[in-house]
Amino acid sequence: IIACDVVNPDHIDATFESIGGLDGVKQSLHELVILPLQRPDLFAHGKLLGPQKGVLLYGPPGTGKTLLAKAIAKESGASFINVKISTLMSKWFGDAQKLVTAVFTLAYKLQPAIIFVDEVDSFLGQRRATEHEAVTNMKTEFMALWDGFTTDQDARVMVLAATNRPWELDEAILRRLPRAFEVGMPNEKERAHILRVILKDENVDPDLDYDKLAALCDNYSGSDLKEICRQAALFPIRDLLEQEKNGGDNSQNLRPLQQSDFEKVMES
Ligand code: ATP
Repeated sequence: IIACDVVNPDHIDATFESIGGLDGVKQSLHELVILPLQRPDLFAHGKLLGPQKGVLLYGPPGTGKTLLAKAIAKESGASFINVKISTLMSKWFGDAQKLVTAVFTLAYKLQPAIIFVDEVDSFLGQRRATEHEAVTNMKTEFMALWDGFTTDQDARVMVLAATNRPWELDEAILRRLPRAFEVGMPNEKERAHILRVILKDENVDPDLDYDKLAALCDNYSGSDLKEICRQAALFPIRDLLEQEKNGGDNSQNLRPLQQSDFEKVMES
């Protein structure tokens, strides 16, 4: 039964280091989410800084919202519970309410934990006229459980929600997500940073000009940049196969990724 993926922090491969750009957002989230999960003792005094129980990440597709949520869980040593809305809504329609309860029960058990709700607009967005009663019940249940731990000062559970369409969220949900962060398209400098991060462990020509590449990738998201890198990485493989076909030495290694590989991808 997969209505959510649960990942132990030790098995999360994302860290803040693996995210290019988004420096401001990372810093705010460190104070707002990571620190309270790691060091609840610092936030236990007075009422001013009660732990935040919900944060919204919004922005275009492929800009790193999911990556950021995973990295936050990793950095906080929290379990990452990725709620799969589509599964929750369709396959388990009748039982959806029970599943919502199960998600929160699990989060309590595993705490510190982060419940990540991607595409929150499709789940907790404005009520549709044709909405099925089961969906309404599920939403009500989700909100009720969420409120339950919001008032429980000791609960180390946090909801991170993400959306590409923040304007579709209704009042009730926005009230529970008092802090919202834009995860926007990267600028040129951020694109260069993202490329460096993506290619960190690859065999790359030391002369590769990241800044020049970033300048060529106007309007590319982090996810687009990753795709370019994937495609570029095929060129050294093709070259090696070609060499072997032409009777070359089979013991040759793959050559490093070069500037021209990336430029070829972008021209195609
Ligand atoms: P969606 O709104 O479509 O769910 P998203 O904003 O959640 O998208 P991710 O799924 O986090 O985007 O990004 C997809 C992939 O793109 C990531 O796994 C990562 O490899 C790469 N990526 C995106 N943004 C960044 C970034 N800022 N730094 C490094 N890699 C990035």
